[in-house]
Amino acid sequence: MLCYVHLPFCDRICPYCDFAVVEFRRERVERYLRALRIELSNARPQEAGTTSTSNARPQEAGTTSKLGTLYLGGGTPSALDADQIAKLLADLFAHFGVEVGGIECTLEANPSRNVKDLARYRQAGVTRLSVGVQSFDDAELHRLGRDHSGAQAEAFVHAARRAGHGNVSIDLIAGAPGQTPTSFAATLERAIACAPDHVSVYALTIEASTPYARWHEREPQAFPEDDAVADLLEQAHTTLTHAGYEHYEISNFARPGFACAHNRGYWRQYDCIALGMSASGYENGLRYRNVRDFDAYCTAIESGNSARDEVERLDFADRVGEAAMLALRTSEGMEDQDFRDRFGLDMRTVFLRPIEECRRAGLLEETRHGVRLTSRGRLLANAACAQFLHPSFLPAPAASGETTS
Ligand code: SF4
Repeated sequence: MLCYVHLPFCDRICPYCDFAVVEFRRERVERYLRALRIELSNARPQEAGTTSTSNARPQEAGTTSKLGTLYLGGGTPSALDADQIAKLLADLFAHFGVEVGGIECTLEANPSRNVKDLARYRQAGVTRLSVGVQSFDDAELHRLGRDHSGAQAEAFVHAARRAGHGNVSIDLIAGAPGQTPTSFAATLERAIACAPDHVSVYALTIEASTPYARWHEREPQAFPEDDAVADLLEQAHTTLTHAGYEHYEISNFARPGFACAHNRGYWRQYDCIALGMSASGYENGLRYRNVRDFDAYCTAIESGNSARDEVERLDFADRVGEAAMLALRTSEGMEDQDFRDRFGLDMRTVFLRPIEECRRAGLLEETRHGVRLTSRGRLLANAACAQFLHPSFLPAPAASGETTS
């Protein structure tokens, strides 16, 4: 079982960002942490030895109700000071009966924030630091509205190492306004020189209602075109794999042994308890999301109500389709034995048509154990994966699915 905690505070809101975030204010943080504590006290505690009801291999770590990974995401979780993080983690570890430092515990961090607290985060149980670098090019960082420089990001990663963090990841953006293959090559080079254990590369998406959407409407030529972004993603693949990183998921690269266990669990549909505004979880076949608004979340919890806004029951067909889609994002792809073990299904039969169509289009290739996306398929992953969402020979997802709000 996984646990995701959303910490939505940022010093300022980046103009491309569509996450559920609020500006950092001390009194807001205190109110929110009180609400989180109440929500946690109502969450399912550890039930050692019991297995989840999801269709995952029983022998796999993370499929039992015991907590396997913890992820503090945001927002900027490192906007909270060390005492606040330490108290929150102590409550989480105690609630789930986990030893401090005993599981993968990720904290997302901003290079402009609380470098002095890095050692204390680690002592509090953070075992994996995910640093939002985005670019090492100062002009790109400025256009992205970031409040740090490339040099600050480098200094932050080095400080994290000195503070004893043995698992450091950095996030980069491909497709920032003004980004070129040359500037991206320089960013990748500086990223590799920082020797992170893990690198995530996300293509910039223009989200409706953000300042970037309005800029894009006024001045589309300021943004790299889709083909140019695809080339940047290929450039990331070539550069990072040559540097020894495994491209283990569409957006993720890791040194051997440093793939993110939390994300791997998510891609394998492990149960995930979600806490905080807009946090999205999956428990006992139910997918849910908490309300996105800060006040609505705090008020719901303070008045003894649930903060869940959307609840959807995934039926068998939904889970099989989603399993295929998530598996295709990974370097292993969809494996014959895995589908037999998890669902008792022959995936070649169930996905006969999409497998054939994607193979003919050059999006899918055979592996020793199944099928996976080709390099062209990775660039067109959304279109390819969408074909697998509704497996044949199974009840239509809409037949037994239900959505409440
Ligand atoms: S720091 Fe991250 S979460 Fe916060 S506004 Fe910027 S992109 Fe969004």
